[in-house]
Amino acid sequence: MKKSDLEKLKSIVGENNVKSDPADLYIYGSDSSVHNALPWVIVRPENTEHVQKIVKFANKNKIPIIPRGGGSGMCGQTVPIHGGITLDMKLMNRILEINMPDVYCRVEPGVVDDDLNMALKPHGVFFPPTPASSRIATIGGEIGNNASGVRSVKYGATRDAVLGMKVVMANGDLVDFGAHTRVEASGYQMHKLIVGSEGTLGIVVEATLKFVPIPEFRCLGIANFDSIKDAGEAVGEIMASGANPSMLELVDSIAIKAVNKTMDLGLAEVDAALLYEADGMVVEAVDYEINKMQKICKKHNGKDLKASYDPDERAKIFMGRKKLFPALSKYDEALSSTSLADDMAVPYSKMADMAEKIHAVAKKNNIVMTAYGHCGSGCMHTKILMDTNRKDQWASAKKAITEIYEYVRSVNGTTSAEHGIGLSKAESFKIEKANSLDTLKAIKKALDPNNILNPGKMMQAPEDWVTATDLRYSVNS
Ligand SMILES: Cc1cc2nc3c(=O)[nH]c(=O)nc-3n(C[C@H](O)[C@H](O)[C@H](O)COP(=O)(O)OP(=O)(O)OC[C@H]3O[C@@H](n4cnc5c(N)ncnc54)[C@H](O)[C@@H]3O)c2cc1C
Repeated sequence: MKKSDLEKLKSIVGENNVKSDPADLYIYGSDSSVHNALPWVIVRPENTEHVQKIVKFANKNKIPIIPRGGGSGMCGQTVPIHGGITLDMKLMNRILEINMPDVYCRVEPGVVDDDLNMALKPHGVFFPPTPASSRIATIGGEIGNNASGVRSVKYGATRDAVLGMKVVMANGDLVDFGAHTRVEASGYQMHKLIVGSEGTLGIVVEATLKFVPIPEFRCLGIANFDSIKDAGEAVGEIMASGANPSMLELVDSIAIKAVNKTMDLGLAEVDAALLYEADGMVVEAVDYEINKMQKICKKHNGKDLKASYDPDERAKIFMGRKKLFPALSKYDEALSSTSLADDMAVPYSKMADMAEKIHAVAKKNNIVMTAYGHCGSGCMHTKILMDTNRKDQWASAKKAITEIYEYVRSVNGTTSAEHGIGLSKAESFKIEKANSLDTLKAIKKALDPNNILNPGKMMQAPEDWVTATDLRYSVNS
């Protein structure tokens, strides 16, 4: 980047908030995906006016600008494949209002999910989309990816929790989308479009979010299964039965082994386990839901059933799921846990097939893949455990992903449930959305004619993600 451009950026946000040291660029060159590419500069705005001035400058000079929150995205959304300005939004981290009578809060985008929930707790309410990365994920990043979490089966994803927002558009204009009300039929719901747009349509500088009461009672149960197919079928029947779980998670044998290896939880090494939770203000209603789910688990050969209201016991049951992601990297010291085809959604009736398909495809391609996820929301995660030094393992991974996504699309599933598209999943996304791609491109062109906002992602991502972008790993030929 030209020295004069750096000086201009420093004049907007101050010397301390512009970083271009190689070490800083390196850190901001990757997220939680496999990809890597360096930005030209990192800029940290402290307020909306800063954002507007930076965007106006970038637009005039056609410089790419990539908004970034915690950088925990798993698909390369914040990896700046065309260089440019990485806009670190974490200094804009104020909770502006908690409005109890009108049941909403207003926050800046850099607020971390856990911090928001800590602030809401004394009011007896919580913000429910909460991904497993809530210790680092920011509200801006959750909006960017339409994140969801273990409780989204009952309370919805980020898009369901956003009432409105202030957005800096590609020309630097500040606009208001949505409302502070529960319902709105006043034209296009632009705030819903910005959710899931991965920083490609505008930069969120304020969000109005709804929250819900913390339930009086929560009961969490577990059921073990000797067959993952049985567990998948139990998920399908629970959701079709009208039960209302506040959590319904599946973990497979690989996930269980990885957790047992890293933590002393003594989980039974079965083919699969289901975690099921119900919550509410009336204990009898919670009991009713738990009994209903347990009955269905038993019908599908679930065993070792237990459930508890006790917070310590619940934490113990949940611990394995909570720490699963880091545990997977310890499954086998020779294998790294990579996020590639890392999340998808399929209709409930296909959940069992999906889990079996993942294992069959992994076996066929000589890699290890796990199947787990927020299955009550139809969401299935995978991680590919492989020797990332070996070129042939990357080729096998690529073949496995292609087969898995072909299956997902064939059963009317979707490429991403919650982690978004970015770079890693662009190939399947483009096939899935083939007949609406022109519409999506037209929206992008209309809102960002100079293509400065996070260019090269989603519809614009390179055709071959392995060779077209650098990987975060060194691969031997
Ligand atoms: C251990 C682990 C567990 C995870 N578990 C989950 C899970 O359970 N559920 C889930 O959904 N995801 C999960 N993720 C993925 C990721 O953490 C979430 O998607 C999270 O919401 C990303 O937040 P972030 O602040 O890190 O966003 P980033 O990765 O920094 O950004 C995400 C996207 O949002 C855009 N963006 C950021 N800020 C703004 C802004 N102000 N305006 C416009 N666009 C913006 C970025 O450009 C990018 O496209 C997990 C990741 C990890 C590492």
